[in-house]
Amino acid sequence: MADKKNNKKNNRNNKNYDDDFNPRFKKQKKKVCPLCSDKNFVLDYKNIDVMKKFVNDKGKILPRRTTGACSKHQRDITIAIKRARAIAILPYTQD
Ligand SMILES: [Zn+2]
Repeated sequence: MADKKNNKKNNRNNKNYDDDFNPRFKKQKKKVCPLCSDKNFVLDYKNIDVMKKFVNDKGKILPRRTTGACSKHQRDITIAIKRARAIAILPYTQD
């Protein structure tokens, strides 16, 4: 019994255990807002190529964790996408 208890303690104290096997603690690269980092980047709702970057293949607006945009620019992006949808450049849905 005593030996088993000691083994458990050792496993818990082993630092490599958490780092190697638990994917929640993997180091993630911090994303930089594409609009803040590039000053020449123009968010134009009439430009399809730019707008398609922020929409997935189903036509949904990508979340901030995927685009990496800051909250201010994510708001601008959603407004631009909705404008593009209204003038039928981008689809509302896609199967
Ligand atoms: Zn930004």
